Amino acid sequence: MIKRIAILGSTGSIGTQALQVIEEHPDKYAASILTANNRVEELIAQARKFRPEAVVIANEAKYRQLKEALADLPVKVHAGEEALCRIVQEKPIDIVLTAMVGYAGLRPTINAIRARKAIALANKETMVVAGELINKLAHENRTPILPVDSEHSAIFQCLAGEVDNAVEKVILTASGGPFRTFSHEQLKTVTKEQALRHPNWDMGAKITIDSASMMNKGFEVIEAKWLFGVQPHQIEVIVHPQSVIHSMVQFEDGAVKAQLGMPDMRLPIQYAFSYPDRLHASFPRLDFTKCTELTFEQPDTTRFRNLALAYEALNRGGNMPCIVNAANEVCVAAFLHDRISFLGMSDAIEKVMERVTFIPQPTYEDYVATDAEARRVAESLLNGSLK
Ligand code: NDP
Ligand code: MG
Repeated sequence: MIKRIAILGSTGSIGTQALQVIEEHPDKYAASILTANNRVEELIAQARKFRPEAVVIANEAKYRQLKEALADLPVKVHAGEEALCRIVQEKPIDIVLTAMVGYAGLRPTINAIRARKAIALANKETMVVAGELINKLAHENRTPILPVDSEHSAIFQCLAGEVDNAVEKVILTASGGPFRTFSHEQLKTVTKEQALRHPNWDMGAKITIDSASMMNKGFEVIEAKWLFGVQPHQIEVIVHPQSVIHSMVQFEDGAVKAQLGMPDMRLPIQYAFSYPDRLHASFPRLDFTKCTELTFEQPDTTRFRNLALAYEALNRGGNMPCIVNAANEVCVAAFLHDRISFLGMSDAIEKVMERVTFIPQPTYEDYVATDAEARRVAESLLNGSLK
């Protein structure tokens, strides 16, 4: 049986690597839906190569160009946010890979769960914003959520075969990003160009900035809570600059299991598709004679305050992680446009956390309202109308 995969965000870093996995296993997988936001040329090329049943471009202004370019193919062409949210419910889809960036991934993910599609989850912001709701819906609809994030895939792999065994803690590894050794003074003046140069991973711009600021690791802590049902005190972050160990699980007898490999996202993507099986892959192998040193450090939450803010949001619960996510999205976009300094991002996020209405038990509508309010407050801080 060929599994039909819908890729939300097929033109991005995760999306294009997912297509490489599909290409390597044409007897197992087919790309049935491809979607993008703006990069219409890339989407056209992908559609011509993979012949999906449908494509969606979120930016409606690009619809005509897409439609005309694919007129000779039996590919349905849609545009707009609504179409993107609805397409995940199409009958032939088996797996929805959520590989778009940010809060925009929440609604299509909810719709896909309601339509009982298996979710291969790359879009961690969905779990950060509404992990409790996503888990409830997944449970009600008996839909698996398969992690794609390399750390969570590593933990998922360590947990295979350990169904009844108690987990003492999960240990998320962090590369530390490009500024791991920078002093507070040095961090004051770092530029977006420096932040975009990640030492180990080649990713989209937003997650690359999040990695440099360690908000990415903070989000992964929140993601781990919801994916694995562990409490905040059971989630540890350890800086491991070589990115060879992708994460670990410590069980109640003290045994620690780790998953190791090259820093290549195609492996976790493929595992989410093939779970519980493993498939042959042609990716490069880890050569232990070349990684002679594996080192570990405590993360520094004084220099990287975002990690502390994410733990705080997790401990406060309710809509607080949603507030942090929205504030962070606004700040990262501003940083990429030179409107805020690197350290200014944490200051702004902290202020937004103080000012947005706290809701202890949010509904979906509450998340929508919180996201909008947090963005408004963050924007007002940035343009100076709020101090
Ligand atoms: P990219 O920026 O490379 O790609 C994002 C994709 O989503 C593109 O196809 C983009 O379209 C589309 N997209 C962006 N915004 C919207 C929107 N508002 N509506 C519809 N489509 C949209 O990101 P990555 O692939 O790096 O990351 C994707 C997700 O996976 C993120 O949530 C990230 O945190 C997570 N992730 C990524 C990892 C990585 O290695 N890259 C590792 C672990 C997690 P277009 O090309 O047209 O702009
Ligand atoms: Mg990760």
